[in-house]
Amino acid sequence: MKKLSQTALAVQASTTMAIDSLYKQMKADGVDVVGFGAGEPDFATPDEIKAAGISAIEHNQTKYTPAHGTLELRKAVCSRLKADYGLDYIPGQVVIGSGAKHVVYTALRAILNPGDEVILPAPYWVSYLELIKVMGGIPVVLSAEEEEGFKLPIERLAAAITPKTKALILNNPSNPTGMIYSGEELQSIADLCVEHDIYVVADEIYCGLVYDGLRFVSFASLGEEIKKRTILVNGVSKSYAMTGWRIGYACSGLEIAGVMANYISHSAGSPSTISQMAALAALTGPQEKIETMRQAFEERRNYIVERINAIKGVSCIKPEGAFYVMMNLKKLFGTTLYGVTIETADDFADVFLKKGLVAVVPGSGFGAPDFVRWSYACSMENIKEGMDRLEKFLVE
Ligand code: PMP
Repeated sequence: MKKLSQTALAVQASTTMAIDSLYKQMKADGVDVVGFGAGEPDFATPDEIKAAGISAIEHNQTKYTPAHGTLELRKAVCSRLKADYGLDYIPGQVVIGSGAKHVVYTALRAILNPGDEVILPAPYWVSYLELIKVMGGIPVVLSAEEEEGFKLPIERLAAAITPKTKALILNNPSNPTGMIYSGEELQSIADLCVEHDIYVVADEIYCGLVYDGLRFVSFASLGEEIKKRTILVNGVSKSYAMTGWRIGYACSGLEIAGVMANYISHSAGSPSTISQMAALAALTGPQEKIETMRQAFEERRNYIVERINAIKGVSCIKPEGAFYVMMNLKKLFGTTLYGVTIETADDFADVFLKKGLVAVVPGSGFGAPDFVRWSYACSMENIKEGMDRLEKFLVE
């Protein structure tokens, strides 16, 4: 048979999904494993949001919608962004997609030509790298170190810009590090991108999960010139515990939004009508439940960070948002655990799952080879158990 697409063959399986499937398989086989791999809140979708989905079905709101989503939902996105971050968008600038991941994909489709360079700060969310490659783009990965708070210094960004630089992917708050750029840091990034005419895919899906009373600044709010070049990506998955409903959105200039809508019309068709009605309820309904969930995440973060830093051989810095923490393994490299010499984060994650019965994600897939990522979007009981197991595991 003839060879499959070279572009498609070059795409790697998602490491987060891989460890999660192995964990789920072990669990299905009756093994007592605890999972910290998945990036989804353990909370149920709030009742009034579920009710809106059910009502959509009961009222036969089950037909196609416009490719870029219903006008009502696009209006609701505009109102939410105005209320929360003072952003001014009109519905024509909003594109609803089948999850934020789909929106990132479509955004990159809209702006990239083969050979375009895309700056990707590391540690990065696994999908960005693969998506840039799918488009025939050239990822320019720039590492931000733990000592730098996992935030890319502006000088490193400036030094990487070439005439071929088309876009920067900026994920704030970050998956996997949980770190947040301040308003001033963002402003210098914005100025640089305007100066060099670079598009910015600003993935702000974790904007609702910010701790320590910090203020989240939306990238597009930093001036008209940067707003024109920004494709703001967001969605309901994380803030409203709606990962399975698959609704994300992008806000951008009218031309980009139009191109994205055309692309969606020929690929996904339109996002699920039922899920759009649920997302509408999420964005327009009471926002108190989000605050309750946010507080629970903050409590869990405080606990997990304290426990990790009290365990010999590992450490972490305190993330300020999202629901992930990166655990530093450098001190463990070269040591032996359960007969295995730990040379890489993958080695650690593998024995920790098989012998310690805890699933964490190795940082190799995030461009952070000395770390594993814990997702603390699970119950406090699970976190306690995971930490107890880590403590025991490292004493062996
Ligand atoms: N962006 C980031 C940074 C994420 O972590 C995720 C989910 N893991 C997504 C986008 C995708 O969100 P969705 O489930 O809405 O596709």
